[in-house]
Amino acid sequence: MNIVYKTIIVGGGIAGLSCAHELSEKSGDFLLITKDIGGRIKSSTNGEINYGALWVGSNYAHMNRYVKRKRKLNKRKICLYFEGKKTPILKVIFKYPWQLLKSLSLAIGFYFRYRRFQKNSEIIGQKQAIESDPILRKLYFQKAEELVAEHGIVDFARTVMEPLLYGIMTSKISEETAFQYQLMSLFMIVGAYEFSFDINKFTQPFQHKILTDEVTTIKKEDKLYSIQTISGRTLKAQNVVIATPSPIAQQLIGLSRINVGKDVYVFHLKGEIKKEYETGSVKFFGYETTPILGMAEEEDSSFLVYSLKKDIDLSQWFKKWEVIALVEWHPVYNDIGKVLLDAHEGKNLWLIGDENIIGLEDTFITGLYVAHKILHS
Ligand SMILES: Cc1cc2nc3c(=O)[nH]c(=O)nc-3n(C[C@H](O)[C@H](O)[C@H](O)COP(=O)(O)OP(=O)(O)OC[C@H]3O[C@@H](n4cnc5c(N)ncnc54)[C@H](O)[C@@H]3O)c2cc1C
Repeated sequence: MNIVYKTIIVGGGIAGLSCAHELSEKSGDFLLITKDIGGRIKSSTNGEINYGALWVGSNYAHMNRYVKRKRKLNKRKICLYFEGKKTPILKVIFKYPWQLLKSLSLAIGFYFRYRRFQKNSEIIGQKQAIESDPILRKLYFQKAEELVAEHGIVDFARTVMEPLLYGIMTSKISEETAFQYQLMSLFMIVGAYEFSFDINKFTQPFQHKILTDEVTTIKKEDKLYSIQTISGRTLKAQNVVIATPSPIAQQLIGLSRINVGKDVYVFHLKGEIKKEYETGSVKFFGYETTPILGMAEEEDSSFLVYSLKKDIDLSQWFKKWEVIALVEWHPVYNDIGKVLLDAHEGKNLWLIGDENIIGLEDTFITGLYVAHKILHS
């Protein structure tokens, strides 16, 4: 006879893991089916270098309980290789002092509002938490360009924020929302840390509830969901939580609207960088001349090179190099605003992840919220 699970979670990135962890702590009945554990949290074989998510913010209330924080990002060592010029960020950040002050005050205001929103999204879900705050709602659907024009910070946005946004989010200000712009501006007031996440420790209490497999179809049959996997299993559940990236969620449950993100290639290499690129331990590059988004020099002196293309000529930046690993993200993220998806996708059907807001902390919270909804259903 087939077992019927109360809940099946599909996908073991941070969203699925946080949901599973919470259900496990509260003795919920569930099974987590996933292709891999960690998803976009992925590290080198020695666990030292992160190939996916790189930093946790000092404001990551949940994630900071589970990760080991390592080196702090030294903002003085950020260098912009933009518009044919090499500019340490400290030189450019004070170029427009009034715009800097205005940007700081906007970032501080946003910080407190965003903190309230994160608390709310644990209770009422991300979509409702945004919709219930008129200012956040406006920011979520507003263009970043409009926000910076409204507040007279266009020069600051173009010279400081745009290189960071492009290097980290792969999008220009013209493509970004005001909400994402404000999120990025938090870098001025919160610390960012490299981290390691002990996935085995985190999943240890529910190891026996993890099934490594790939879900191919999900069908509603009467009151239950029937889940088929690539290895030929059929599993039944009352609740299904989709915690895959949104293009997969779209295939599985037919999400009507999603954002389609860009692919990013992460090269981990040892090498000797050319003299003209030595400045800065974190470097951001422009969008006009190069597919390279950015580079981060790691504690062991190796480099992470982020690129929009797989086929790049590393001799442009390095005198000599040896590629240790190449990790591909298809796509790196899905969110560039515009879509605000609900966690509740149908009766007993839930969607969690970073569709609305990118980043480990908000994604973790989507998993918590749905775990609580299921526990109380
Ligand atoms: C290069 C990079 C750098 C980043 N930097 C940062 C950073 O510095 N700070 C930060 O906070 N965030 C960062 N992020 C974003 C952050 O990693 C993501 O927002 C977050 O990890 C998304 O988690 P998720 O659980 O929603 O999705 P994912 O981590 O993508 O997990 C999805 C899971 O679903 C599984 N899956 C997919 N299809 C199926 C299927 N059919 N059946 C079963 N399982 C399936 C996958 O195997 C995976 O385990 C970065 C991301 C990348 C890629």
